[in-house]
Amino acid sequence: MERQDRQAVRTDPLSTQALIIGAGPVGLYQAFQLGLLGMDCHLVDVLPHVGGQCVELYADKPIYDIAGLPRCTGRELIERLQQQISPFAPPMHLGHQVTELHRLEAGGFQLHTDLGLSITTPHVVLAAGVGAFLPRSLPLEGLQSLSGVCHAHQPMPSPAQAPHVVLAGSDEQILPPLKHWLAQPTASLTLLHRRSKLDLHGSDAAWVKQCLDSGRLRLVVGQAIGLAADDGALQALHIAPPDGDAFDCPCQVLVQCLGLSPKLGPLADWGLAMSKRRIEVNTRDFGTSEPGIHAVGDINFYPGKRKLIMSGFHEATLAAYGVAERLSAGPVTLEYTTASAKLHQRLKV
Ligand SMILES: Cc1cc2nc3c(=O)[nH]c(=O)nc-3n(C[C@H](O)[C@H](O)[C@H](O)COP(=O)(O)OP(=O)(O)OC[C@H]3O[C@@H](n4cnc5c(N)ncnc54)[C@H](O)[C@@H]3O)c2cc1C
Repeated sequence: MERQDRQAVRTDPLSTQALIIGAGPVGLYQAFQLGLLGMDCHLVDVLPHVGGQCVELYADKPIYDIAGLPRCTGRELIERLQQQISPFAPPMHLGHQVTELHRLEAGGFQLHTDLGLSITTPHVVLAAGVGAFLPRSLPLEGLQSLSGVCHAHQPMPSPAQAPHVVLAGSDEQILPPLKHWLAQPTASLTLLHRRSKLDLHGSDAAWVKQCLDSGRLRLVVGQAIGLAADDGALQALHIAPPDGDAFDCPCQVLVQCLGLSPKLGPLADWGLAMSKRRIEVNTRDFGTSEPGIHAVGDINFYPGKRKLIMSGFHEATLAAYGVAERLSAGPVTLEYTTASAKLHQRLKV
């Protein structure tokens, strides 16, 4: 599963019968069920790859409770789901966070992403799990708007002069930016971490130790508690060490390599009925309090809800029927994949 850099796009609004927010296991299966019922859809995920929690949190761990699959890793399950939806080839917009939902006067919705994509649709399926996985930042007010500040996986800033570069983090996320900046001979490199012990192993740990021993990289142990900026550009971080007095660490480039954390974010402000930070749904078709918007998987709440992949698959199946019935303004006949020539045609089997 390929990682892509987030790049701003400006396009004319796209249009689809259903927009799925979230390409975790449930969002992917939602695309399958919509395709099976003859509907097109688009998927959007803020991560640069599909798979949600399965890939982000436990890609190589085995799952034992998927029906008919006695054992498979998170990554294998996602690869199988991708294979299953391949006949429908739903367009996927990865690296985009859906930030806005507007109700259209004529009915339906227009949604916008942080990178400028806009999509109109009569149906939205929220498969947003525990929220959008967004990069963690240092908790310093005003930091993110300064020039010279970025997250790992983003394009590196390119300041005019030899910069003081600080990498904040301690695990393998520091490796690509470290390699990038080591190739710039004039940059001074600092690794900032709360403890002296890094979360690296084997050859990665040995390589970083070599960089430290050679003096090309220095380790600063402590927490950033303040910053200094000049004309919108970061100049220094104020560091509190575990012992002793706080001090300034020069910093014109800050690369935050602090992992990802899920944030419900803008979805919570769309006026949908919520319970315990999750979206309330009915159990007939997993519709929310607003007609045309469904919620499936970990994001939803109903009595008896269990945050399990199998529960999400069931919810996605009934949500697809709900969308199909709304589109056809009437009941949709159930057909079996084993026997239906129409479904075989859709599945290209
Ligand atoms: C360690 C661990 C082990 C687990 N083991 C099991 C197990 O053995 N069996 C089992 O059944 N379940 C297990 N689970 C639970 C399972 O992973 C979840 O139930 C499942 O991932 C939910 O799928 P989902 O598609 O609803 O959400 P997610 O997997 O969370 O995917 C949601 C996606 O939506 C994206 N998103 C959210 N908001 C936005 C937005 N505004 N714009 C764009 N994208 C957005 C997120 O980036 C994410 O990729 C486990 C969970 C964990 C953490």
